Amino acid sequence: MQTNFTENQLKDKDNKSSEKIFRKCVHCGMCNATCPTYQLLGDELDGPRGRIYLIQDMLENEKKPSKNVVKHIDRCLSCYGCMTTCPSEVNYMHLIDHGRNYVEKNFQRPFFDRIIRDALSKILPNSKLFKLMSYLVKLGKPFQIFLPSKLKNMMKLMPSSFPKKTLKEKKIYRPKFKKPIARVALLTGCVQKELSPQINESTIRLLNRHGVEVIVPKKIQCCGSLNHHLGKQDLAHKDFINNINIWYDEYLRGNLDAILSNTSGCGTTLKDYGFIFRNNKELKKKAKKISELTKDVSEYLSKNLNLKFISKSKKLKIAYHSACSMQHG
Ligand code: SF4
Ligand code: SF4
Repeated sequence: MQTNFTENQLKDKDNKSSEKIFRKCVHCGMCNATCPTYQLLGDELDGPRGRIYLIQDMLENEKKPSKNVVKHIDRCLSCYGCMTTCPSEVNYMHLIDHGRNYVEKNFQRPFFDRIIRDALSKILPNSKLFKLMSYLVKLGKPFQIFLPSKLKNMMKLMPSSFPKKTLKEKKIYRPKFKKPIARVALLTGCVQKELSPQINESTIRLLNRHGVEVIVPKKIQCCGSLNHHLGKQDLAHKDFINNINIWYDEYLRGNLDAILSNTSGCGTTLKDYGFIFRNNKELKKKAKKISELTKDVSEYLSKNLNLKFISKSKKLKIAYHSACSMQHG
């Protein structure tokens, strides 16, 4: 695809990276075939090709995003189905990230939307606030008829109780009956940790059972994806930098074989830290290392531990959902 960035615009390193990606796109539209929002809405601007066009137009012409453009960009689910379909290997993920950051800086959302987005960005990554909010929502439910429908729908999604944790929070989980054969760090995350603690607990038990020592640094909470996808670059970078420094220190202490994520969307962002900090002299080496060490837990179990999932003795039927970000991210 032809691009028309000026020399001056290309001094901006993000523009420079995005320009290279735009030039790879041949406008074939094959990506529309696997885009859920295009399939559902049938509008060219709700597909990847249309969004790429909108982002390029905003960046090249330094346009203030219109309400309509923002609507189409906001509708992207970041499932990345378009990336594995694209024959030209267009990295749509980096374009939509750039587009969202640009929108956040150059578009003033309606007051109510700003409040909601700010609340999501602060409450969801913070376990204590999330629990407090769920309690307040419970108290507020009898009065929800007076609230706007958007808020009512969000209240429905809030859990009214949280499952009990069965594993004590610790920094290091050591295998009980085996000498450790490996040492990994686990991202226990923010929302998932409270909604479904059994996911982290099962991951730790399984790894320990196979002789893997698991470390969970207390100061690592959110991977930063939530704010990253909201285009809130500064807040996202705060989490990114915190995580990179803590994990890198662990890596320097020796024997950190992998950083595991059991939430594929978070893992996709961790694997992108290297790209995000590619121009940061201080962090680039560290971020690259963190991305190289990151694996989804299922990748680690099958590739590193060589775990066989097929039991010969029993006929087991299991359902496995390979999430979109796991397949395409
Ligand atoms: S499939 Fe790839 S090259 Fe074709 S329009 Fe989509 S992003 Fe561009
Ligand atoms: S990331 Fe998913 S929703 Fe967004 S454009 Fe690509 S396929 Fe469509």
